Amino acid sequence: GEALRLEDVRKVYGTAGNRVAALDGVSLSLPTGTFTAVMGPSGSGKSTLLQCAAGLDRPTGGRVYVDGAELAAGGGEAALTKFRRQRIGFVFQQFNLLPTLTVMQNVTLPLKLAGRKVDRARAREVLARVGLADRLHHLPAELSGGQQQRVAIARALVTEPKVVFGDEPTGALDTRSAREVLELLRESVRLYGRTVVMVTHDPVAASYADAVLFLADGRLVGSLQTPTAEAVA
Ligand code: ADP
Ligand code: ADP
Repeated sequence: GEALRLEDVRKVYGTAGNRVAALDGVSLSLPTGTFTAVMGPSGSGKSTLLQCAAGLDRPTGGRVYVDGAELAAGGGEAALTKFRRQRIGFVFQQFNLLPTLTVMQNVTLPLKLAGRKVDRARAREVLARVGLADRLHHLPAELSGGQQQRVAIARALVTEPKVVFGDEPTGALDTRSAREVLELLRESVRLYGRTVVMVTHDPVAASYADAVLFLADGRLVGSLQTPTAEAVA
């Protein structure tokens, strides 16, 4: 099926006389179980696209569907937040872990926020998958950047969201940690059927995806299917 659909999505910032069309009519459809990279020059609208698709921001026009349900159709801020917590995971460039919570607490928080059982066994299992079974009681500051981003991936995956978004998820990492993070994202697609959409500047990172979409001036200007990531790795 279709995991993510955008129909003529627009986002205009600013007021009369000083308008920026950050997104100028973007339409796309991503099948479930695919890994997509979004590339484009700085200012082309990549972050805005991700934020609108993930329900972190509201488009000025057009429609966004996640797993067939329209994002924020009618609802207020609370409805949008609830929608996000149930269907979407997000991985940021700077990890955005809560510094006073342990690894385990960071990873169980999305379950709590989604009103679900705080299933520590499940959190432990997801943390084991990202190679952090022995770091459950550490604080984020006690971990390397690569380890922190793997915690963030576990946090994004623990609710089994339909779509996981990454905004430059490897942008702050060394080559080796970046590769580990990309392999985990790819594994979440291949083994667990997640759908991943990742903004990146790095062609090597993009090569892990099944397809690359190119943005320029708020429009999709091209796409390509990548050779299988296995051939690149
Ligand atoms: P990218 O992620 O590709 O660098 P962005 O989505 O951040 O691009 O930005 C696209 C355009 O929208 C740029 O011209 C940027 O300056 C503008 N923009 C982004 N966010 C805002 C904002 N909150 N207010 C005003 N303009 C914004
Ligand atoms: P990136 O290239 O990673 O998108 P930016 O520096 O473009 O980083 O944007 C960082 C943050 O600043 C984003 O939240 C974006 O929405 C906001 N932003 C970008 N451009 C503007 C702008 N012209 N006015 C206000 N906020 C902006």
